[in-house]
Amino acid sequence: MTKQCDAGGSRSDPIYVTRSFLPPLEEYVAELRTIWDTHVLTNNGPAHNALMSALKEYLSVRGLSLFVNGHLSLEAAIKALRLEGEIITTPFTFASTTHAIANTGCSPVFCDIKESDYTIDESRIEALIGPRTSAILPVHVFGYPCDLGAIEDIARRRGLRVIYDAAHAFGVRVGGRGIASFGDISMFSFHATKVFHTIEGGALAYGDEALAAELNLIKNFGISGPDRIERVGFNAKMNEFQAAMGLVCLRHIGSEIEKRKGRVALYRELLAGIEGLRFSEDAAGMEHNYAYFPVLIDPRAFGCTRDDVFEALAGRGINARKYFFPLTSECPSYASARGASSTPVARYCADNILTLPLWSEIPDEAIARVCETISSLRRRA
Ligand SMILES: *Cc1c(COP(=O)(O)O)cnc(C)c1O
Repeated sequence: MTKQCDAGGSRSDPIYVTRSFLPPLEEYVAELRTIWDTHVLTNNGPAHNALMSALKEYLSVRGLSLFVNGHLSLEAAIKALRLEGEIITTPFTFASTTHAIANTGCSPVFCDIKESDYTIDESRIEALIGPRTSAILPVHVFGYPCDLGAIEDIARRRGLRVIYDAAHAFGVRVGGRGIASFGDISMFSFHATKVFHTIEGGALAYGDEALAAELNLIKNFGISGPDRIERVGFNAKMNEFQAAMGLVCLRHIGSEIEKRKGRVALYRELLAGIEGLRFSEDAAGMEHNYAYFPVLIDPRAFGCTRDDVFEALAGRGINARKYFFPLTSECPSYASARGASSTPVARYCADNILTLPLWSEIPDEAIARVCETISSLRRRA
């Protein structure tokens, strides 16, 4: 860290990068009663089925399957569509996206992203399509939707499947449509740190209801009946304790998103006008979920680097996150993947982005402390 980028200051109560939502305990306990009454702990129990119906309605989708976590659901999506060869994706994502491609025997091909919203640069997709390309797997990064129309058009013209990693985009709507109504399949993660969670968990949403039977097979060892193993599968079923948490959390999702919206508004107000900082604003016709508050720091205009800011915040007990950093293409296993070293925009974003602490109940004082630390660095610079 350069000297002028040291904010100094003493440690007070730590501020974590996020904090999982927990519903009132009584509400969860009430749901657990059913488990004790029925003695059904997993394998498509009543809570699982109730959550499936409730989520279909909330997300406005025809088909939905629940999983033990988001990652395995993504692998199941690739297996259900029987994809082979190359899948075009981006390296500015969580390790899960790229690993799902590799774990299912496919090869990731890395496409660059746009600096404006961190999603796949749709103008660069077609140049990467080769004879072995079977699908596109883009990510709705921080809940910002990819260019849905352009991707749909490319997929239709070139005969490719589209799976969206919508892990960040629960509840996001575009032009009145649920985000999961685009593409062949969308994956949601219900990990404890996500806007909506089932402790651990995930779901696939899709329009083709025939996929339900295939996904049920894949997540239950490929077993189709007492006497038959139909295909290769694994165990990725959501259990009743997870589904019960989901049923309760879903009742609170409206107020959760509303509170996050208020927290993000305060960040935007306190950081407004600081040169060299860029953060996203709400887009017209979109319902955001305020899952994250990413800030892109232009080191020249701001005067300190992202790493300086990270260290200065840490020095005051504030845990921001370099998210996403590193790029998944930096994992040695992907060094020889096509496109691995030709994503300069993704490189720039990974090196200069910081997601600031955010959860629905983060106090005003905590946000003020984060913003004060950042603006004091700018003043010194
Ligand atoms: C959280 C996340 C996943 C993985 O989901 P899990 O439920 O943790 O397995 C995949 N992709 C992205 C972008 C994520 O943020």
